[in-house]
Amino acid sequence: MCDSSLPAGRESDVARPHGARKTDAGASVCSCEGGGLSRPRAFEDMDTISATILVIEDHDSTRTFLADNLSADGFDPLEAESAEEGRRLMRTQFPDLAIVDLGLPDCDGLELVHEVRTTDRIAGSLDPDLPLLVLTGRGNELDRLRAFERGCDDYLSKPFSYPELRARILALLRRSRGRPRSGRIRVGTLEIDPLARQAWLRGMPLTLSKKEFALLRALAAEPTRVFTREELLRGVWGFRTLGATRTLDSHASRLRKKLTTFGDKFVINVWGVGYRLVDGSIG
Ligand code: CA
Repeated sequence: MCDSSLPAGRESDVARPHGARKTDAGASVCSCEGGGLSRPRAFEDMDTISATILVIEDHDSTRTFLADNLSADGFDPLEAESAEEGRRLMRTQFPDLAIVDLGLPDCDGLELVHEVRTTDRIAGSLDPDLPLLVLTGRGNELDRLRAFERGCDDYLSKPFSYPELRARILALLRRSRGRPRSGRIRVGTLEIDPLARQAWLRGMPLTLSKKEFALLRALAAEPTRVFTREELLRGVWGFRTLGATRTLDSHASRLRKKLTTFGDKFVINVWGVGYRLVDGSIG
């Protein structure tokens, strides 16, 4: 069941902080003090956390609005237009929090919330403790109750105020700080801790840039699979087009160099396709 009956204009009827990109649906502009680009004091102590926020929302201008503002606030936004894409990004990018729309094209957002919450902690590929904030046009009491029953941590109805959404995100992140997360990923002599954003090679810590780490984390999620350039650009950089393959190639090249410190070979360029991470014994 989807809430696709919701008028398109309503979903984009959100407060837009100064400087944010104008939505293509011509959303009404509210003057929002403290929104988006000016940071309230409460945000300051969160500056050290570069949280990755997954936005699962099929309405283009709402998703773009959220990604733009989250990015302006120093978060790392990931965008998904469907539950399937959201699932994939959860599995490969380990977001710190997900914003979930309920009316998604391929499944009801409540099903996705339930799926995450009931994931097997050991064998599952999703993180059952991932903070989930439902953001939806469905606003009545029954809808809210159902969402909490299914396992969401917070609920906000559209139209919404971005400063309020941000405040709720910060509250959820504060509460989830230090929570146990899906364990470390090990690929041969390489070890990755998604929560600590640290990787070790033969027990020695690696110094990686934010994007190099994100790229490594994405590849390590399925070490034997070949990821296409498009997938990596979309997943790690959020690019929707293939115009920036040189960015990916230069990051992959630097990452490969750092991983060969001890003679191992990890990041493999699969000519004409993309990249894969393999155990150091290969090559
Ligand atoms: Ca929707």
